Amino acid sequence: MEIFIEESALSFKLAQNIIKSYPAKIISSYENFKWEKKPFPELISIGKKRLFLIHYKGNFFRNCPGTKAYFCCRYKIFHFGEGCPLDCSYCILQLYLNRPGLKIWANLIEDGLPELKRVLKEHKEKKQVLRIGTGEFADSLALESICNVSEILINFWQEVNPLAVLELKTKVALSENYFSKFYPDPRIIFAWSVNPEKIIKYEEKGTAPLEKRLESAKKAVKHGFTVAFHFDPIIFYEDAEKEYPLVLEKILNSVPLNKIAWISLGTLRYPKDLKAIAENRFPKTKIYSQEFIEGLDGKKRYFIDLRRKLYNSLKKIIDETKGLVTFYFCMEGERMWEEVLGKKITSSFQVKTLLDEVALNLCYDKTKKGGN
Ligand code: SF4
Repeated sequence: MEIFIEESALSFKLAQNIIKSYPAKIISSYENFKWEKKPFPELISIGKKRLFLIHYKGNFFRNCPGTKAYFCCRYKIFHFGEGCPLDCSYCILQLYLNRPGLKIWANLIEDGLPELKRVLKEHKEKKQVLRIGTGEFADSLALESICNVSEILINFWQEVNPLAVLELKTKVALSENYFSKFYPDPRIIFAWSVNPEKIIKYEEKGTAPLEKRLESAKKAVKHGFTVAFHFDPIIFYEDAEKEYPLVLEKILNSVPLNKIAWISLGTLRYPKDLKAIAENRFPKTKIYSQEFIEGLDGKKRYFIDLRRKLYNSLKKIIDETKGLVTFYFCMEGERMWEEVLGKKITSSFQVKTLLDEVALNLCYDKTKKGGN
């Protein structure tokens, strides 16, 4: 990995910490960085090996983009950077980030944490629970060995003691050593996106195998954290209806159900311009060769019958959890909620309430265990 630091970012703690352990080049600015004259899809791949520490001027705390067309969970984001060294064929960042490279905001300790602290304080005073994630424009932990952003945030949770959960979404494996650095805290949710091994192997380059993700989840639980899983995107292929239920079974047999905050479900969807970029970068991928319709949010998605078939393959196991685990849909409507999850959900607000309740219990759990 090549590391570049903007001149104006040099004095920030994160940059200073990284310089101590890694060779880095100083650049005038990311904006003026001279990329090779290569087609954009190729630059995306080159950019996955270049990390830029940037003096960020925007908001660190924001709403998850979600969509107005389907129910979403009204999640909040702590925006720590953009880009991911892993390489999934369906990743929307290939399209959304119009400039290559992995970017981390070097001033997140000096500017990001105080901004976050203000928001957490306001919400705690109003007794409003927050669900905050960092994995919207990046994998929360893929660059952890270099930047330690999640470590900084986990320690910050201990210090600030917010009425909020922090969800760290990832596809990497984590070691026993990693977890042993922290105090137990059920408000910290380590979340893995999951797929059958076949999809991981062919469509999620550089990510950890399913078994390693589940082993990591077990370690997280052992060290006093909560876990979550995201079946997102669920991808259709010949054995999908057989193999997705096996993944769900494995999860439920790996960790105690009361340590799972939630499990989300969402089939593949993508903005139509992603297909050309992804097929150029992944000539062997077959995921875009299905039939798709344009959804109400303008994104391509499977026909409702196929989506229903895929979700229904999990229904029997979901029913067997007898309400002990909270399942939710990412971007589905009323009909699917009722048919598959047996829940009468008629608004995004209800999805938010459902997940806020889980989050609140995790915060109380922390208090019960004698948290500060
Ligand atoms: S892990 Fe997530 S952010 Fe990284 S390439 Fe895959 S989909 Fe994109």
